[in-house]
Amino acid sequence: MQKTGKSACPLNCWDSCGFHVTIENDKIIKIDGDPDHPITKGKICGRGRMLEARTNSSERLLYPLKKVNGQFQQISWDQALNEIAVKLDNIKESYGTTAVLHSHDYANNGILKNLDQRFFNCYGGVTELYGSLCWGAGIEAQKWDFGNALSHEPEDIYNSKNIVIWGRNVARTNMHFYEKLLEVKKRGAKLFVIDPLANATAKIANEHITIKPGMDGLLAAGIIKEILRLGLEDRHFLEHFTYGFGDLKKLLNEVSLTKLSEMTEVPAATITRLAEVFTDKPTAIYMGLGLQRYKNGGNTIRLIDALAAVSGNVGIAGGGANYANIQVGQSFAFAELILPNRRQQHRQFSIMKQAEEVLAATDPEIKMIIVTCGNPLTQIPDSTVVEKAFTSVETLVVIEQFMTDTAKLAHYVLPTTTAFEEEDFYYSSMYHHYVNYGPQLIQDTPGEVKSEVWIWTELAKMLGFGDEFAYTREEWLNITLKPLVAKGITLEKLKKTGTLELPVAKIPWYDKRFATPSGKFEFTSQLGEEKLGSGLLTLSVPAESKWTDPLRAEKYPYNLLTIHPLRSNHSQNYHLLGGKVNLKVEVARNIAAELSLENGDVVRVWNDRGEVKGIVSILTGAHPNTINIDEGIWRKFGGPVNTLTSSRPSDNGLGSTLYDCLVNIEKI
Ligand code: SF4
Repeated sequence: MQKTGKSACPLNCWDSCGFHVTIENDKIIKIDGDPDHPITKGKICGRGRMLEARTNSSERLLYPLKKVNGQFQQISWDQALNEIAVKLDNIKESYGTTAVLHSHDYANNGILKNLDQRFFNCYGGVTELYGSLCWGAGIEAQKWDFGNALSHEPEDIYNSKNIVIWGRNVARTNMHFYEKLLEVKKRGAKLFVIDPLANATAKIANEHITIKPGMDGLLAAGIIKEILRLGLEDRHFLEHFTYGFGDLKKLLNEVSLTKLSEMTEVPAATITRLAEVFTDKPTAIYMGLGLQRYKNGGNTIRLIDALAAVSGNVGIAGGGANYANIQVGQSFAFAELILPNRRQQHRQFSIMKQAEEVLAATDPEIKMIIVTCGNPLTQIPDSTVVEKAFTSVETLVVIEQFMTDTAKLAHYVLPTTTAFEEEDFYYSSMYHHYVNYGPQLIQDTPGEVKSEVWIWTELAKMLGFGDEFAYTREEWLNITLKPLVAKGITLEKLKKTGTLELPVAKIPWYDKRFATPSGKFEFTSQLGEEKLGSGLLTLSVPAESKWTDPLRAEKYPYNLLTIHPLRSNHSQNYHLLGGKVNLKVEVARNIAAELSLENGDVVRVWNDRGEVKGIVSILTGAHPNTINIDEGIWRKFGGPVNTLTSSRPSDNGLGSTLYDCLVNIEKI
């Protein structure tokens, strides 16, 4: 008998969609959008629909596995957890708890996925990762400038006269925002896209401004310079609500518009015209994540924030420097869930450099790595070093749904549930501010898969801190909602409605009271000064460019981007695409012309870190000398492209530099 139930997308995505799931005989038959969801209104993308295939796939890991003589053998949960618990106990006794590295990311969301942190804190505190491969440089940058990284509510787009989509292909990654763009454009708003690629969002724009990858901050600097020359700045805002504007003016006096035009490869006349667009208010900026995946990534976002401030688009309806919306995640009771005070020891490795740090760690050495919600072999930069590190430890435990490149290296693989096989709630701190409820829709889970909550609870019992995990799912969920109960957001209500609006700022900084040390928007960041010795804005450029490393640029003349794939959420779906996966090497027209490349040619792309081979596809409208290879491709399909990328962190230390990557290419 068929029945339908509401659920929610657990994927790490901007949109956090509401689902309508059809179930027959305890099996997912179909996933559609929930028409009642206030933001996603019944529409979902292919990646979300593919969760049906993901749940029902015959390739699912169904039993705990242990590697014996290089081969995986099925073992019981009892054996797997007992052996892991004994190893954790011995490591604690002999080397201290920080000899364990918890390597994690955000592959499958749900607030209770964070219980892994509670487990490791109660164990005594392990080596944890800091920073983010995805958006870390930009989040930190906005904390320096505004005090937090907040976005306007989705409906505020209707107040914008001009909308600048800066390095964000919303048609691919934020489909509900794309629909809104089509709508506001019809109503008369003007749409500008700044991006090295002529992507699907650029195609609907009034104007697409193509730019040299990594030079976005300099373009913002050029636009500010022109705003000031034309006397179009918001003097009231600058005078009353900002700190350090004099430092910015001084910086801009050091460089000419001609130089900025040369470096960004954006014509000077376009920069001047953009100065007029930004000051024809309200103008909203919507930034993507790729433009901060460079060595100068934090500074890039800071210069774009500065542009929003100088043009008077901060704290007004229809404006904003929209990058992330972390107030959404900040609504829940994380400390009570993860118990950070239970740590007795603590060590942190950078997420970007975790492999090098594992190999270099001495006091203590890393003896065990436990991987949750991630596939580091594919996703962490400089894959060759990552493989070396993850095969160097005595014990690698991977909690997974599929035999990923990382799981293949493990000593123990623990099979875990999908979103529809457990109860949780879901949200995204990227776009809208609704939390979605996901009930357990499938009662009889396949094989012996277990939820991560169960795994942590059982391990905690074996290690003597079972009391800290003696809660039902309902109790866990209620703990996380505690700060919201007074505002009428309860689990009961969430279960009933499927989605609830969180009480967050809809137009951030409307009162012009910023969460910075000065209480103002900071062009010169006091937090930056405290952390890194200088909070000044700079005119910095990527680490791999002709301006910073001419020899490298001569050897490897092309910029490699590794954008988010269309059909897979990072590395999660490639194995479900029916084996029809090729590593596609998208090249700008000028590269194809110079090297006589044609669509379908087989090429090698390389630099001093590694190489990949793939099939050429010529990109129309891409900025000259630009190549793209989608991220996340598994080894068996020709990846990972991270063989080519660098583990160098961003300027503020918290972001990756995955796009700061020069390569060469040849036909083979
Ligand atoms: S991946 Fe994103 S757009 Fe697609 S269904 Fe999930 S939340 Fe919605």
